[in-house]
Amino acid sequence: MMLDINSKYNRIKNIPLKGKIIFNYELASYTWLKTGGKADIFFAPKDTNDLKFFLENLNKNIPFFILGAGSNTLFRDLGFNGAVIKLSKSFDYIKFINNKEFKVGAATNCIKMARFLAKNYTAGYEFFSGIPGSIGGAIKMNAGAYGFETSQYLIKIKILNRKNGEIKNILSKDYQMNYRYTNFPDEYIFLEGTFKYLRSKNTTDSLNKIKNLIKERQLPQPIQEKTSGSTFKNPKNFKAWKLIQDSGCKNYKLGKAHLSKMHSNFIINKGNATSNDIERLGEEIIKKVYEKFGVKLVWEIKIIGRKGIC
Ligand SMILES: Cc1cc2nc3c(=O)[nH]c(=O)nc-3n(C[C@H](O)[C@H](O)[C@H](O)COP(=O)(O)OP(=O)(O)OC[C@H]3O[C@@H](n4cnc5c(N)ncnc54)[C@H](O)[C@@H]3O)c2cc1C
Repeated sequence: MMLDINSKYNRIKNIPLKGKIIFNYELASYTWLKTGGKADIFFAPKDTNDLKFFLENLNKNIPFFILGAGSNTLFRDLGFNGAVIKLSKSFDYIKFINNKEFKVGAATNCIKMARFLAKNYTAGYEFFSGIPGSIGGAIKMNAGAYGFETSQYLIKIKILNRKNGEIKNILSKDYQMNYRYTNFPDEYIFLEGTFKYLRSKNTTDSLNKIKNLIKERQLPQPIQEKTSGSTFKNPKNFKAWKLIQDSGCKNYKLGKAHLSKMHSNFIINKGNATSNDIERLGEEIIKKVYEKFGVKLVWEIKIIGRKGIC
C-alpha cells in the first residue's frame, strides 16, 4: 500500500530533534549549479546523536541523500522524495591527534582545510585548495587534483551506517578508491576522516604552493560561475574536455545551460537554467562524443531525484 506524504512522515514530525528540519524544502540554493526541486525533508542534525535519532525514526523505506557542499550534485527539477541530510557546524573541525594523524569533521570545507594545514606546518594537502567541496564529499568522490587524491592521505573514516544505526571506524584501505570512484555503500554517512600528518619545515612553501595553484586554476576554469566543475570523468587514456571540444560541441547550449567557452568539460548555469536543461545538454554531449569517437563519457556529477519536467 502506498503511504501519502503526510502519513509517511508522521513519526518524524513528532519527535524532538535538536537540528533544523524543514518539510518540502527548496534545494537549489544548496548546490553550486543553483537548480533543482524540493526535498520532502531537509534535515541539518545538530550532532551525531541527533542524526542517529533522526535515522532511527525515519521509516527505513524512505530514501535519504547526504549532501556535502553541493559542488558535485545536480538535484533534478522534480526534487527528491526522501530526506536530504546536511551536516551542520558541529561536523566542521580539524583536530591534531599526534605526530602521525589528525581528524577532520565531514562538513569541513576542503579549501579552508588546505589553508589551515599549510599555516599549521602540515605538508601535502595543498591540492585541496581548489576543491570547493566538503571532506565528506571528497572521501565519497575520491576528489583530487594535480596528481594527488584524497585516498593517498586518508587512513580511516568514522561512519554511521543508516541500515543498523552502528557508528564505527572503517579503514580506507579496505575499500576501493580510484579516479573519482569509491565503493563505499550508500548507507554509510561519513562523520569524520582521519588523515596522515606530514610535518612541513615552514609554512611559506605550502602557502606559496596554494597561491600558485589558485592562480593556475583561475586561467582555464570558470570557477566564478554556477557550475559543478568537471561534468564528465576523463575516460581511460583520454581527456574529456578534448573529446568534447574535438567533437564540435564547443558552442552547445540548452536554455540557460551553456557549455563553458573557457573549459569544455564545465557546464554552467548562465541564469535560470533548469536541471533538466543541464542534464539534457550533458546527454547531447555524450551522444555527440560517442558518434564521433566511440567513447562513452560518464557523468562525474551526481544526478539525484526523479527524472522529468515540472
Ligand atoms: C569550481 C569547481 C571546481 C572543482 N574542482 C575539482 C577538482 O579539482 N577535483 C575534484 O575532484 N573535484 C572538483 N570539483 C568537484 C567537487 O568539488 C568534488 O567532487 C567534491 O569532492 C564534492 O564535495 P561536496 O561536499 O560538494 O559533495 P556533494 O556534491 O555535496 O556530494 C557528492 C557526493 O558525496 C556524497 N557525500 C557528501 N558528503 C558525504 C558524507 N558526509 N557522507 C557520505 N557521503 C557524502 C554525496 O552523497 C554525493 O554522493 C570541483 C567543483 C567545482 C564547482
